[in-house]
Amino acid sequence: MLELNELSASYPEQQLCFSLRAAPGTITALIGPSGAGKSTMLAMIGGFTGTSSGQLLLDGQSLRSLEPARRPITTLFQDNNLFWHMTVYQNIAIGLHPGLKLSTLQQQEIIRVAEQVGIAGLLERKPGQLSGGQQQRVGLARSLARRQPVLLLDEPFSALDPALRFELLELLRTQTDKLGLTVLLVTHHPDEAARVADRIAFVYDGKIIEQGDRELLSAPRTSALRNYLGR
Ligand code: ADP
Ligand code: MG
Repeated sequence: MLELNELSASYPEQQLCFSLRAAPGTITALIGPSGAGKSTMLAMIGGFTGTSSGQLLLDGQSLRSLEPARRPITTLFQDNNLFWHMTVYQNIAIGLHPGLKLSTLQQQEIIRVAEQVGIAGLLERKPGQLSGGQQQRVGLARSLARRQPVLLLDEPFSALDPALRFELLELLRTQTDKLGLTVLLVTHHPDEAARVADRIAFVYDGKIIEQGDRELLSAPRTSALRNYLGR
């Protein structure tokens, strides 16, 4: 279980304070207006930005004092951080070892993950020779190959056409179930949340002001969420 208990950060323009529980094998969609603090929340969990108080626990163990690289967490952003001079295989491998030194088991793992996300035939290509959707599959493959229990995704598929977006979301859903991942997915498409998420959290002005299952979208309680959804 991933737990945020009043995990806080403060900036001159914004106070942020988040409380959330997310279970293994679930996808929690984070929705909310631009500037609400969704990306900052992921950065606080990943350790890329500092926190001032509160708890961040995974299975009861505190993560707050750990360096980002030591946290059992993988983050995937919209610009998937692929290296353009490396092959797809190397781009996945670098998620496992920065010097690309992999055990035989890890090499097999890369092939397996590449098959799962539908890029097994592209391993020798470079990202510049791939479509946007294929590039995001590589980003997802790298993230999954790392085999960390917590996966943070910041609008990873937003630039893609709806059909492709939903295909990759289905893939994420399957892998979440199979591997028991704890996934937080920032999205500005409520329809994505409605389609794949188990839980939905509405982030507004640095806080989660509503959370629940998918019903939240059909029965918003606050005027802020109603406004956000355009109702
Ligand atoms: P979202 O992803 O929901 O669009 P962000 O997390 O990017 O929102 O931003 C939320 C707010 O947090 C920003 O408007 C800003 O006021 C504040 N913030 C986040 N990171 C920093 C930072 N490094 N320095 C100053 N302010 C920041
Ligand atoms: Mg953002």
